[in-house]
Amino acid sequence: MTAFKNIPSTLSLTFALTMGALTFGATTLSVPQAQAFDDHVMARDMETLFVGATVLTMDGGTVYDKGYVRVKDGVITEVGPMTGPMTVNNVRVIPSQGKFIMPGLVEAHGHLPFIGNSLRDTEEVMFLYVAGGVTTVRGMQGNEAQFGLRDRVNSGDLLGPNLTLGSPSLHGGRVKTPEEARQFVRQYKEEGYDLLKVHEGLSFDTYMALVDEANKQGIRFAGHITDTVTVEQALDAGQDTIEHMDNYVAEIMAVPEGERDAKMAELVAMTKAKNGWIVPTDVLFQRFFDPSDAEIARLDELKYVSADTIAGWKRRHESFVASFRESPEQGKAYSMWRKKLLKALADADVNILLGSDAPQVYSVPGFSVQREMEGMQDVGISIADILDSGTHMGGVYSNEAYGLIKAGYRADILLLDEDPRQDLSAFRALDGVMVKGYWHSGEEIQKRLNDMADRYAKDK
Ligand SMILES: [Zn+2]
Repeated sequence: MTAFKNIPSTLSLTFALTMGALTFGATTLSVPQAQAFDDHVMARDMETLFVGATVLTMDGGTVYDKGYVRVKDGVITEVGPMTGPMTVNNVRVIPSQGKFIMPGLVEAHGHLPFIGNSLRDTEEVMFLYVAGGVTTVRGMQGNEAQFGLRDRVNSGDLLGPNLTLGSPSLHGGRVKTPEEARQFVRQYKEEGYDLLKVHEGLSFDTYMALVDEANKQGIRFAGHITDTVTVEQALDAGQDTIEHMDNYVAEIMAVPEGERDAKMAELVAMTKAKNGWIVPTDVLFQRFFDPSDAEIARLDELKYVSADTIAGWKRRHESFVASFRESPEQGKAYSMWRKKLLKALADADVNILLGSDAPQVYSVPGFSVQREMEGMQDVGISIADILDSGTHMGGVYSNEAYGLIKAGYRADILLLDEDPRQDLSAFRALDGVMVKGYWHSGEEIQKRLNDMADRYAKDK
């Protein structure tokens, strides 16, 4: 880590924002460019001040057209409109006029490197999340190496998102009895995971034992709806989040065609009434069904992934398509119902978290949540609701202070050149990302992306 160089740490200055210029004491200067600041990760021991941006706080719709945000020790300490001269001591200033500030994105269903991954792959996955604007990942399949990753991110040693750690998968292959379920719950709680990852194949009794023990131990449980449990039973059990929407679609498609709309409406109303939380990960599923060559060519971010990885994704996709080869019509219907359901859930104001299930099948970490947001827009969800889902709702779900630009909240901040309220493509050109007070300039991020693209281009 390189200390901030350009402004002496003893500097004290008074400035006012006046029509695109900063007044330093008596002297009016044109606004310094972001490049004037160190391109490396800046230590966060110094106070940071963003000045002059349009600040989308995501806090009840409050926007400051010419706002400032102050950060210290990884926490937002102040946010508000620029109203006149401000006195600041020992601060680094990030000029932000004409730009947009919003909270970093929360990837509610991400995957983190596995133990066998090389150090380079591990560090690249963590970096890609941040490069795509993701400042928090809820890791939905754990292993013990992730505790070390989380420590490295927290200490600033590793450029990566904040991590919420799900446990190793609890599925029928390894959890066969209620007593085993209880043992795993106690073990994972003890080991320090933030939540339990529920998966397929649990017997009903095993699932209910898991639920009971999780409640006793005070640990959350989330994930798939296991095969023996209905959507209603999972909601009644208090499952924290329901991933992928696939059980919903299965229940819809299990009834005769003419009754499916009614079934969908019933499930949506029930989910709202029982305060369920859904992580749709729809873009991944749509891509499983229909990744046309044009669609894949559109995914510019694939250049940041090795040829080997892409070949693996291609094989995985082909085997999935093969499983629907007998009934392509059913695949189409499934895809259509997913879209209808996503829109209906949003219309009913069900809690939806942004999640993309990266990295897999053409979903590149960080960039895939941008694709998920595009997919949400395609089905007719408003940009305002999409941004809320990807920021504010993440903090509401976790009951932690992040996801808003607000005093006392974790300093997870995106600086964008374009207005994301106008066009979600604004996330394609980030001007900088702050993770828990660690600042990464857009230039630093782009340089590393370019290096990765160059390296991977060699074997493509
Ligand atoms: Zn997943």
